[in-house]
Amino acid sequence: MPQTKSKSKSTSSRSGSNNSRTKSASSSKSSSAAQQQQGGNEMLEKFFYEALKDIYWAEKHLTKALPKMAKNATSEQLVTAFEEHLEQTQGHIDRLEQVFELIGKKAQAKKCEAMEGLTKEAEEVFEETEKGTSTRDVALIIAAQKVEHYEIAAYGGLAQLAKTMGLDEVHDILGQTLQEEKETDENLTSIAENDINLQAESEGEEDEDAGE
Ligand code: FE
Ligand code: FE
Repeated sequence: MPQTKSKSKSTSSRSGSNNSRTKSASSSKSSSAAQQQQGGNEMLEKFFYEALKDIYWAEKHLTKALPKMAKNATSEQLVTAFEEHLEQTQGHIDRLEQVFELIGKKAQAKKCEAMEGLTKEAEEVFEETEKGTSTRDVALIIAAQKVEHYEIAAYGGLAQLAKTMGLDEVHDILGQTLQEEKETDENLTSIAENDINLQAESEGEEDEDAGE
């Protein structure tokens, strides 16, 4: 984390007189502490907003990627998992729009390079594996879980941050999505462990015996 200043007492020159939109500041704080917090909050609030734009773009992008993944999956269980998560993802977008509204900011998407990269990797699976194989399903599961882990990191961090910032309702909303991302991740793990990994393994053996 780049830190340009480490001295803590340099904020006294800020007058804080422009704080017409101070949030119900706790009266127990000394005014200088409140001012310091106000300054910190502005930077943090900006970061928070930018991070929301990033995950908003990511979720929207996923609504385009998930149907392709469903279409390329073979296991019915996996197809269903992708389809269900597509529906959930639409809900995640709605929730983010609620959050934007709650913080009084415009819902805006900012390109998430990470999600673009992760979905590109998922598309590489289409080239590197054969359609109709469990091997492709295995690869799709891993690609999807990388996506879920990205989202879990984003929502986990932002939900916790919202709590720290006193945005309890935002915390709850982001927490709901976080929970669904975790459940999706666990569901994908169990689909892989219970069925598809073994099928992919034996599929390899068949190929060795019978060729193609
Ligand atoms: Fe999501
Ligand atoms: Fe997700």
